[in-house]
Amino acid sequence: MKEEKEALKIYNSLAGSKELFTPINEGFVGLYVCGPTVYSNVHLGNCRTFISFDMVYRYLVHLGYKVRYVRNITDVGHLVDDADEGEDKIAKKARLEKLEPMEIVQQYTKDFHSVLDQFNNISPSIEPTATGHIIEQISMIQAIIENGFAYESNGSVYFNVEKYNEAHPYGELSGRKIEDLISNTRELDGQGEKRAPLDFALWKNASDEHIMKWPSPWGVGFPGWHLECSAMSTKYLGEEFDIHGGGMDLKFPHHECEIAQGTAATGKSPVRYWMHGNMLTLNGKKMSKSTGNNLLPSELFSGDNDLLEKSYDPMVVRFFMMQAHYRSTLDFTSDALNASEKGYLKLMEAMKSMDKLTPSKESSLNVLELIGSFYAAMNDDFNAPILVAKLFDAVKFINSVNAGNATITAVDIELLQKEMNAFVHDVLGISGISESSESRLDPVMDLILDLRQDARQNKDWGTSDKIRDGLASAGITVKDSKEGTTWN
Ligand code: AMP
Ligand code: ZN
Repeated sequence: MKEEKEALKIYNSLAGSKELFTPINEGFVGLYVCGPTVYSNVHLGNCRTFISFDMVYRYLVHLGYKVRYVRNITDVGHLVDDADEGEDKIAKKARLEKLEPMEIVQQYTKDFHSVLDQFNNISPSIEPTATGHIIEQISMIQAIIENGFAYESNGSVYFNVEKYNEAHPYGELSGRKIEDLISNTRELDGQGEKRAPLDFALWKNASDEHIMKWPSPWGVGFPGWHLECSAMSTKYLGEEFDIHGGGMDLKFPHHECEIAQGTAATGKSPVRYWMHGNMLTLNGKKMSKSTGNNLLPSELFSGDNDLLEKSYDPMVVRFFMMQAHYRSTLDFTSDALNASEKGYLKLMEAMKSMDKLTPSKESSLNVLELIGSFYAAMNDDFNAPILVAKLFDAVKFINSVNAGNATITAVDIELLQKEMNAFVHDVLGISGISESSESRLDPVMDLILDLRQDARQNKDWGTSDKIRDGLASAGITVKDSKEGTTWN
């Protein structure tokens, strides 16, 4: 695995090019991904970003890295207009639903986890919340103030962008020039506290009616949205870490501000490789909560949406996402999903028939080379669609062997099985369609009915009745006949 490990290239948004991946500490990777703001159900667009980074995480693990994967939960500080003004998204939802903000957070965090579980995502190693790290955020603000890059104003604290830009280029990630940014920002209502419109909030002073607020050296308030990710990534991954990911739409201002905050606090740029996933679109437009142009995963799984002809298994949806590169946009259509379903079933079928291959003396295809192409695809900036194409080369080969038109040796069968399983299941995270609960119940029922049969043979009528009545109260009827016992 060493060779493959040393050949991984990652497109670094900061450099604007693919770079060979070299971790800060050999053998270890620190990975931070911006998590959801938990004020509504995650839509399929959000899921795409989280599934993309799940694939990234899985491949790093497959290469043998020990990965500390941190993905936060934003439960305070993200304001409605994504800037420094307006209501907190969670507080607003809590007000509308007449609930506690933490009830909103609980409900949608649960939804988020359940959806990602269905997509077979692996949980991060640490999932910190913004409200659980107020102290760390306050300390970071203090460090930034001490270093001269932030100022207090009327109980709020703002990051001084122009001052920072004198020492470090602001806008390096998103390729924006500070002069353009300055001329594009206009004075908005309520920006009176700021010295310059480009400055952004690290801490906001809270009015009396504000519900989510904490004491701080500057009075009662709440942290700015960008700060939580800086504070939590520093706490768990260090002042400098390997990979930071998120959707493309977070590049500016969120990630740009994270770079500025980290650099201002520690003197070091916090992240080596910045990775950005592209958007899932619907009708050619970004899926988004605010415009209503979105689909919910639950709608796909049930088929309950006018845009859909039928329901889809979560694995089909995941496979659909893997057929596009994470840096390309992907448009959702039911035609595309139907095509993915066909491909997925074909792949699963071949995975099954791979176990029945008959070995020959020679292989008519270079299996080692084929497997090398799996690695080459993923090492080229996690190119999952190329990997999928190579997996289909393998499918074709497996089917030809089974049809008697190609041959494979016993050694190659073992190799192919191992690597196909690794790339399909472990790397792409694609599993077989979940068995229906009924078929999972079959072996359990066989066992119970066996036990009942034993009891009857021993004339232990008490136990046999207990089993029958217990099953009846669970809605399962047992019928005895000459042919044996059946249930439904
Ligand atoms: P939010 O909860 O709005 O902070 O978003 C959570 C994540 O979903 C972020 O990384 C966003 O970049 C990402 N995201 C939002 N909309 C889309 C979309 N249409 N396609 C892909 N990712 C998205
Ligand atoms: Zn973030």
